[in-house]
Amino acid sequence: MLEQKLREVIRDIPDFPSPGIIFKDITPVLKDATLCVDIVNEFADKLKDVDIDAIAGVESRGFLFGLMLATKLGIPFVPIRKQGRLPYKTIAESYKLEYGQATIEVHEDALDAGTKVLIHDDLLATGGTVVASAKLIEKLGGVVVGFSFVISLDFLNGAGRLRRFSDNIISLVR
Ligand code: AMP
Repeated sequence: MLEQKLREVIRDIPDFPSPGIIFKDITPVLKDATLCVDIVNEFADKLKDVDIDAIAGVESRGFLFGLMLATKLGIPFVPIRKQGRLPYKTIAESYKLEYGQATIEVHEDALDAGTKVLIHDDLLATGGTVVASAKLIEKLGGVVVGFSFVISLDFLNGAGRLRRFSDNIISLVR
C-alpha cells in the first residue's frame, strides 16, 4: 500500500541540517512519477468530502505536491514564501523557531475573502510553519478548511496546534 511504499522510499538523513535532527528526505519520491501521482490521488481521495476553493503551499517542498493537487482539483495554488522572495505587495507573519524566528509572506491579492483554503506542506513537525500560514490566510479573509502533509512527526504533537483552525488534518505517513 501507499504508506508502506513511502516508508521505504523516504530517506532519513541524520544530523541534517543540524546535529540531532533526522531529516526526512522526500527527493527519492520525486524520481518515481507513478508514486507522485499515487500521492496526489490519495490526497484527493482523503479530501473528497472537504469543500476546497484553493490550496496554499509552503516554500519550498510544499510547492511540489501542493501544486500537483491544486492542478488535479482544478483550483488555484497560492505560494507562501520565506521573507523577501515574493515580488508583489505582501503581508507577513513571524513565528518562533527552536532558536530565533522565521517570517513567511503571501501576496496581498493571493485570494478573495471567503475562499476556502487547504494548507499543504511536505512535513508536519511542531506545526509552527503551518500555524503561521493559517494566520496569513485568515488575514487575507480566507477560511482554513484543512491541512495536508506527506509526513507527520506525531510525537511533536503539531496536529494539536492546528485543530483551532480545522479538524481536517491529513498525513500519508506518520
Ligand atoms: P514545523 O514548523 O516545526 O512544523 O516544521 C515544518 C517545516 O520544517 C516543514 O516545512 C518541513 O519541511 C521542515 N521540517 C521540519 N522538520 C523536518 C524533518 N525532520 N525533516 C524534513 N523537514 C523538516
